Amino acid sequence: MIKEQPIKYVLRCRQCGTELADDGLVLFHKGCDPPGLLQTVYTSAWPGQGDDGMGIFQYHEWLPIRRTLPGSSAPVTYRSRGLAEQLRLENLFIAFSGYWPERGALMRTCTFKELEAYAVCARLPERFEDVLVIASAGNTARAFIHVCSTHHIRALIVVPEWSIPMLWRETEHNDCVRIIAVGGNSDYADAVLLADSICRMDGFVAEGGARNVARRDGLGTTVLSCAEEAGCIPDEYFQAVGSGTGAIAAWEASERLSLNKVWPGGPMRLHVAQNLPLAPIYESWTSHSSRIVSMNSLPGCSSEEMYAGVLYNRRPPYGVAGGLYDALLATNGHAYGIANEEAGAASKLFEEAEGIDIDPAAAVAVAGLVKCVARKTVEKDAYIMLNITGGGFKRLRRDVELQTTMPIAVVDRSDFKSVRDHLICKRS
Ligand SMILES: *Cc1c(COP(=O)(O)O)cnc(C)c1O
Ligand SMILES: [Zn+2]
Repeated sequence: MIKEQPIKYVLRCRQCGTELADDGLVLFHKGCDPPGLLQTVYTSAWPGQGDDGMGIFQYHEWLPIRRTLPGSSAPVTYRSRGLAEQLRLENLFIAFSGYWPERGALMRTCTFKELEAYAVCARLPERFEDVLVIASAGNTARAFIHVCSTHHIRALIVVPEWSIPMLWRETEHNDCVRIIAVGGNSDYADAVLLADSICRMDGFVAEGGARNVARRDGLGTTVLSCAEEAGCIPDEYFQAVGSGTGAIAAWEASERLSLNKVWPGGPMRLHVAQNLPLAPIYESWTSHSSRIVSMNSLPGCSSEEMYAGVLYNRRPPYGVAGGLYDALLATNGHAYGIANEEAGAASKLFEEAEGIDIDPAAAVAVAGLVKCVARKTVEKDAYIMLNITGGGFKRLRRDVELQTTMPIAVVDRSDFKSVRDHLICKRS
C-alpha cells in the first residue's frame, strides 16, 4: 500500500489567485490569460532545521520537492569585515554561492544556478521518463549538466554558441545529458526559442525558467541563509539580475519569512544591478515602465562585449503578475546600470577585501552596492544582504583540472529543423 504524503504546499496563480496541486512540472495556470507566475504556499511556518550536511535541502519545508538529492551545497552567509570597512557599513552580510571550501561553500559549478538545478530536479515527478529541456546563457547550463549528470536525469540543454567555454566540468558528463548550441550572433533568447520548439515534440518537457517554482524557491534559500545568520530579515538586498528570477525569489522568501514571523525585520528593499549598455530591466524600471522596453535598438552591441554577458536577457519575466516589476514596486526597489569599468573595479575591490574571486555577474552587484553607498541611498547601520551569486572559479582551478563540455551540435538560427536529427538521444 502506498502511504499518502501529507500535502506540503499548493501553487497559487499570481494573476487570479487560483490554487492548484503540483504535479512536479506545471509552469502556469492554464485557465488564465495571461497567466501570472505560480507561487508556492507552504503549510509549514518554518523553512527547515538548518543541518549543513543536507545542503540546500536543509530548507526542505520551503522547497516544492518530492525527494532530496545528495551532494548539494547551501549558500553560505557571513558578516563582512573587509568590504564592510571599505564601504563604512556596519551590518553587511555576504551570501556566497560558489566554491570557497575555507568558508564551507562547495558549489563546484560556482554559481547560485546550482541551487536552481538541485531544486528543479528534486521537484520532478516520481517516474519521470521524459527529457527535461533547459535553455541557458551558460551558468544555468553548467549547473544542470552537473546535477542531471550526477543524478542520471535526462536533459537537453540549449545555449548560445558564445557561451560554450562556460560549460566546463571536472569529468566528462553522463550520456543522459546532451547539449545543443545556437550558432551565429545568437543570444539567450534564441536559445529559448529553440528550446520552446523542441518542447513541442513528444517526450520533451520544458524546465520553464523563472516560471518553475522550484527554481525560485531554490534561489530563495540565499535569503533564508542570510536571515538565519543575521538573525533578521535584511533591510536591503543587492543582486545582479539577468532574468530577475533571483530577485523575485528573494522577495518571495522575505515575504514568507515575514508572514510566518520566522525572523524580525522586513520589508526587504530590492536593489538590482545590470551591466550597461544591454540593461533592459534597468532601462524599464528607471523609465517607470511596467513592461519591458525593447533592447533591439543596439545592433552593434552583443553579450560578448559586456563584462557580464550572462546578464543580458531580452525577455525577462518583468511585466508578468508576480514578476520583477511587481517585486520592485512592492519593495520600493532601485535599479542600477553598471559600466564595464565599474564592474571590473568592483571585482578587484571585492577580491582584495574578502579574499575570494567572484563571478563577473556578481561583480556587477558589488558595483551596484558601491554606487548606492556613494549616493547615500542606504543607512550605514542598515542590515544589508549582498548576494554574491557566483564565485570561486579561480579557487576551484587551484584544486582540480577542468575540461570544456562540447555540444552534440551547433545549429543555425535559420535551421532549427535540423535539430530533430540530433535528438536521437531520446529514449537512448
Ligand atoms: C544567472 C546569474 C545572475 C542573474 O540571475 P537572474 O536570476 O537570472 O536574474 C547573476 N549572477 C550569476 C553568477 C548568474 O549566474
Ligand atoms: Zn490564474
